[in-house]
Amino acid sequence: MLKIAPVVDELGARFAAAGHEIALVGGPVRDILLGRGSKDLDFATSARPDAVERLLAGWADHVWDIGKAFGTIGCQKDDWVLEITTYRSESYDPTSRKPEVAYGDSLQGDLARRDFAMNAMAVMLPSHQFVDLYGGLEDVANKVIRTPGSPEDSFSDDPLRMMRAARFAAQLGFTPDPAVVTAMKEMAERITIVSAERVRDELIKLVCAPYPRIGLDLLVSTGIADHVLPELPALRLELDEHHRHKDVYEHSLTVLEQAIDLEPRLGVELPDFVVRFAALIHDIGKPKTRRFEDGNKVTFHHHDVVGAKLAKKRMKALRFSNEQIDQVGKLVELHLRFHGYGTGEWTDSAVRRYVRDAGDLLSRLHVLTRADSTTRNRRKAEALRTAYDDLEKRIERLQEQEELDSIRPDLDGNQIMQLLGIAAGREVGEAYKFLMELRMDEGPLGEEVAGQKLLEWWSTRSPATGS
Ligand code: ATP
Ligand code: MG
Repeated sequence: MLKIAPVVDELGARFAAAGHEIALVGGPVRDILLGRGSKDLDFATSARPDAVERLLAGWADHVWDIGKAFGTIGCQKDDWVLEITTYRSESYDPTSRKPEVAYGDSLQGDLARRDFAMNAMAVMLPSHQFVDLYGGLEDVANKVIRTPGSPEDSFSDDPLRMMRAARFAAQLGFTPDPAVVTAMKEMAERITIVSAERVRDELIKLVCAPYPRIGLDLLVSTGIADHVLPELPALRLELDEHHRHKDVYEHSLTVLEQAIDLEPRLGVELPDFVVRFAALIHDIGKPKTRRFEDGNKVTFHHHDVVGAKLAKKRMKALRFSNEQIDQVGKLVELHLRFHGYGTGEWTDSAVRRYVRDAGDLLSRLHVLTRADSTTRNRRKAEALRTAYDDLEKRIERLQEQEELDSIRPDLDGNQIMQLLGIAAGREVGEAYKFLMELRMDEGPLGEEVAGQKLLEWWSTRSPATGS
């Protein structure tokens, strides 16, 4: 609280002077209690959006309209990003996908419509009076996710809250109250009335959280996953009586966790949804392709290709971007390719094809393939790791070589002959060599500069005749 006090107090004073109430609410209050600082702050106010805009102008660095129709104005002040929303008292149509918004007139009313007690706390401004009507502080202390009222009523108002419970469990490592879990089980099917976009956004947050396994297990065990990502529960393939067949679901969660551990290798902004989601669903082609051969041998031929198709179809239904769909689809399709590598049997051309097919997904494919080894046999795991190290080294060596091989001088033979006014012959070769050295030393210079340098070189080499 101390760190954010100046910006919060200034805002509180400004609103109070204009006769409005304002309070810090929701996520930031919960996060302060958890010691998780963030630069994003949410506020609730009695002021209507037009008044909020006027009060922010002249104080904030930028002000923008996040959803004025829903009462939310955003602004930036120094490093802080603030979202200020007019008090709401939402009314829900149980059959509709979107909550209807109505403005409310009290902080209490606004807090009453929030999803969980831990998200329904507020700090009034400028007094710093702490408001906790539903025992949110106790829930944070006990790491429990509870609804302010009955979970059935709450989830009936907005079924997305069931997914939010799983998302917060994954983000915070909290445990949903047994009544919340019961309601999730009973009402799982209601998630189908929520728009795909809202479901997708919660799924992304869940997968990108520190403990996605907790959230995913909750979605699967309550039956919500059967509606939003049915391919995931389908991975719990029956174990045979000798437990000879690995449980693909368990394997997939482990691969996801191993991918998270390897993620820092990617050199992109973390967390990376694409590599995580690909890790989670890389084997979703297995249930459809499972065959029992000779009574006890099980195979999953072409589960990579089938899985890629299923992945794309599911992601399309969940309204993911085409880029994300293509990326995850390609990773799923390529996740088995390395298995032909053995102990280094690939030709250079097979290595080149691997690199070309992965394209800009290469480093993600490295992470996925390395993560996809969950054998308990240490020697086997070590052999796979060594083989992949070897492949990465070969890729590096080939790339270096090929970059060098593809370097050409800035001018070609014809241009040299034209510029120097000479015919094909030994001197053209010498000029070419000079330009190649120049290119190596100084990088690409462009035709004009390279031409000038060539002429200089030519004049010192064979002094101008002047005639
Ligand atoms: P974070 O921003 O870290 O993901 P958050 O708690 O701020 O977490 P948001 O999704 O940003 O979560 O929502 C902001 C606040 O709005 C929540 O803390 C909660 O009080 C309220 N809220 C959001 N979505 C709902 C919902 N579907 N039903 C009820 N209240 C909600
Ligand atoms: Mg938030």
